Amino acid sequence: MKKTYLFTPGPTQIPPDVVLAEASPMIHHRTSEFSDIFANVSEDLKYIFQTNDGEVFTFASSGTGGMEACVVNSLSRGDKAVVVRGGKFGERWAQLCETFGVTVVSVDVENGKAVDPDVLNDTIQREKEVKAVFATLSETSTGVVHNIEAIAKVVKGHNLLLVVDAISGIGVHPLMMDAWGIDIAVTGSQKGCMLPPGLAFVCVAKSAWGAIEKSDLPKYYWNFKKMQKALSNRTTAYTPAISLIMAAGKALAMIREEGIENVWSRHAKLANATREGVKALGLELFAGDASGNVLTSVKAPEGVNIDAGIKKLRDETGVTITGGQDELKGKIFRIGHMGYVNEFDIVLAISAVEKILYENGYKMELGKGVSRVQEILVG
Ligand SMILES: *Cc1c(COP(=O)(O)O)cnc(C)c1O
Repeated sequence: MKKTYLFTPGPTQIPPDVVLAEASPMIHHRTSEFSDIFANVSEDLKYIFQTNDGEVFTFASSGTGGMEACVVNSLSRGDKAVVVRGGKFGERWAQLCETFGVTVVSVDVENGKAVDPDVLNDTIQREKEVKAVFATLSETSTGVVHNIEAIAKVVKGHNLLLVVDAISGIGVHPLMMDAWGIDIAVTGSQKGCMLPPGLAFVCVAKSAWGAIEKSDLPKYYWNFKKMQKALSNRTTAYTPAISLIMAAGKALAMIREEGIENVWSRHAKLANATREGVKALGLELFAGDASGNVLTSVKAPEGVNIDAGIKKLRDETGVTITGGQDELKGKIFRIGHMGYVNEFDIVLAISAVEKILYENGYKMELGKGVSRVQEILVG
């Protein structure tokens, strides 16, 4: 008998009511029934991006499709963009820009560290004619959360466009579209939104439209102007992922009911308990003080084949945590705690980590991490 528990950095666990909503009988999308659902979802999405003035477009794609849409709608041939690159997803912004012939200037940040806004400021000042800055709220490959508010201050100081990958950060950390002056932000359904993979949500502020109007990069499906026109008619330009949008109606209503501030503080509390639990086992956080509340990245202890341990745990028990990617493979492991997660999920996740380490000969006292988690959560 196997039971599945996802503590991965996406996809994440889904509430049963959301699963049921997704399984509703199919309806046609050019109907008032669909339009009512879609209009509600679009309003609730504005709430999670904390915007009144902006609009949120829903694409049928993974998060990366939404990222591509951001690039092709905001830039033009020959533009220069500054990219904050502190891991796999910062790297993705750079690759997307290069794919479309945009000149990329990278602000390289060491894995496990957050970007220094002064370094970003110096880079913008040194480079002439930068058009936009691409940043990441939560760098899922390292567990780091960047200070988007401070980044936005720098970018606005130069009157440039700010585009933020908030794919794993939304619904976990505050992202204040209007208050911070972010021009475009993107998220995907399978992270903090408690939904299956398959939708990308792109929030576009009024301030972005000047650049969008001028943008001449090639696009057809990913066209913000077409999406805006359709949204004003309470629909999408092409056939929407109807079942996922019905599920989104339920998941976003749950977030509204809990209150976004409470959602943020729940994640802060659970992330803190996770960090304390792994530290009680004598382990070290990979991202140190820059660790966010989306996931906890931990240095794998010497002599433990962490990837084999993770695989064995998953195959035998259904509990899934993840290792590192690319150059971090075998060096770190990551415990995701975003979305539909409560305190006993953290107890379970830490007990699973204990099992992996114990079985692999790591010197430790069983229950020490779990008991620290309990202490934090009860206290
Ligand atoms: C998951 C993730 C992505 C990629 O999303 P896909 O849905 O896999 O395309 C991009 N950026 C960040 C920060 C992510 O966490």
